[in-house]
Amino acid sequence: MKAVRIHQFGGPEVLRYEDVSDPQPRKDQVMVRVRACSLNHLDIWVRKGLAGVKLPHILGSDIAGEVAEVGEYVKGLKAGQRVLIAPMHFCGHCAKCVAGLQNQCREFTVLGNAVDGGNCEMIAVPSANVIPIPDSLNFNQAASVPLVFVTAWHMLVGRAGIRSGQTVLVLGASSGVGIAAIQIAKLYHCRVITTAGDESKLAKGKELGANYGINHYQQRISEEVRKITNQEGVDIVVEHVGAATWDESVKSLKTGGTLVTCGATTGPNVGIDLRHLFARQLSLLGSYMGTMGELHEVLQHIFAGRLKPVLDRTFPLHELPAAHEYLETSQMFGKVVINV
Ligand SMILES: [Zn+2]
Repeated sequence: MKAVRIHQFGGPEVLRYEDVSDPQPRKDQVMVRVRACSLNHLDIWVRKGLAGVKLPHILGSDIAGEVAEVGEYVKGLKAGQRVLIAPMHFCGHCAKCVAGLQNQCREFTVLGNAVDGGNCEMIAVPSANVIPIPDSLNFNQAASVPLVFVTAWHMLVGRAGIRSGQTVLVLGASSGVGIAAIQIAKLYHCRVITTAGDESKLAKGKELGANYGINHYQQRISEEVRKITNQEGVDIVVEHVGAATWDESVKSLKTGGTLVTCGATTGPNVGIDLRHLFARQLSLLGSYMGTMGELHEVLQHIFAGRLKPVLDRTFPLHELPAAHEYLETSQMFGKVVINV
């Protein structure tokens, strides 16, 4: 089959379009013909070099396609079915996995991170990862969903315990997690404040349901939040930016508020004033991907059209280096999807 692999870590030039042997599915696995695979910032981190990545390696976490072959032990799936692939890898039998907490499994990783991903024509995965999609969702839309929507759902619903009527600050309206989190917070009838670096992105954030937009280059986030909330602050902050916004995010919380973070795009080292943490009774929560149960839960809203993936543009597989450059340098709004 054709695939793009990396044989060394580095810039987009290390992505090599080449022939590799087809995967050999086990009897409990399903072979999927990949049609679309969306990019995430994780692809960039892995390409540049992450511990635990064995070379040569195939990137790509978010996959949609058609079932090509079904293993002897697999029930309920058949060749030709249109599906998406849950982007997580887990053992399936440890105490965490059987409790439904796959993202706490010791073997847990994201497809395309410590195991091969979907920047290729065929992939073999356990049947539990293969989820049929309705005709209303095309492959590009389906591939734009799993990682960002399960991440945002786990942050807001699983970790922060979002309740209707709350006020939620979502950083980065144009990011994958931001696009998902704005919509999920609105699904819960919350008031949503979002941030972006330019007016057109703020306008798109409002189209997704955000009530207020803050331009983080021209305005101080916490000051604007105080104005909008009558000095009170927000119940929940959805963080993934890291060092550049951390102080503003903490300052934006109301007393008893919850900050939940899933990333550190601008740097991992931040300060915390313990007096603010205890006196204002803040909760600072970490969040990593989500569980299979949460993925199925958020997908029901996607399949019903209550939550919508946002697509920016597509590239063919052999132009993956250009797609990576676009992801790293461009002002996109929504997902960049590879077509195979
Ligand atoms: Zn496990």
